[in-house]
Amino acid sequence: MSLIAIRTRLDAAMAQAGRAAGSVTLLAVSKLQPDAKVLQALQVGQRSFGENYVQETAAKWPAFRAQFADAKVHMIGPLQTNKAKQAVELFDAIHTLDRVSLAEKLAKLAQARGQCPELFVQVNTGQEPQKAGILPQALDAFLKDCQAMDLKPFGLMCIPPDAEDPVPHFHMLADMAVRNGLSGLSMGMSGDFERAVAFGATHVRVGSAIFGARPQA
Ligand SMILES: *Cc1c(COP(=O)(O)O)cnc(C)c1O
Repeated sequence: MSLIAIRTRLDAAMAQAGRAAGSVTLLAVSKLQPDAKVLQALQVGQRSFGENYVQETAAKWPAFRAQFADAKVHMIGPLQTNKAKQAVELFDAIHTLDRVSLAEKLAKLAQARGQCPELFVQVNTGQEPQKAGILPQALDAFLKDCQAMDLKPFGLMCIPPDAEDPVPHFHMLADMAVRNGLSGLSMGMSGDFERAVAFGATHVRVGSAIFGARPQA
């Protein structure tokens, strides 16, 4: 497992960008990885993880949390509205708030529970038809809708198009966050997390570079 190497690279990227130590959270993306690898990461002190699937998280995290009470699990995959209730019980943060119907559901759950996971609005910076996320030109209105529901997103998240330079997308997301007074920026994956840090990422989502290639779903 290359967790230590990735942490070293992340620390170097933060120093290079003049970012304060601890200002970027490394999410170890453990979806579909064997439990033994996740346990190994927990044992060397990794505490923040990213998962994509509600079912998988429900099956695997209660036991880890019983052993490592301070572990945090972030939802980074698409979230179906009918799984929102389970998701708010399982996750410390949700990075994929991407539509009004989901916001409405989360707002209701937050009201009933008196608490809400930290929320990131996913923005489809590449305007890709097959990809989830609020379109950049619709973001300000979406954030107003959230505000009207008493939902207070912490930040923005993006997944840049596969074949493109991610930097303009990181730049765009950072600008949109500043413009809207949001402090969280979830961007950067195995291939580009150092560049994301240079553009202000607060959460990088690194899977294969830590755990190795994923078994297929
Ligand atoms: C799987 C996944 C990652 C991790 O991808 P790697 O290329 O393995 O680092 C990051 N973000 C999201 C949204 C993912 O689904």
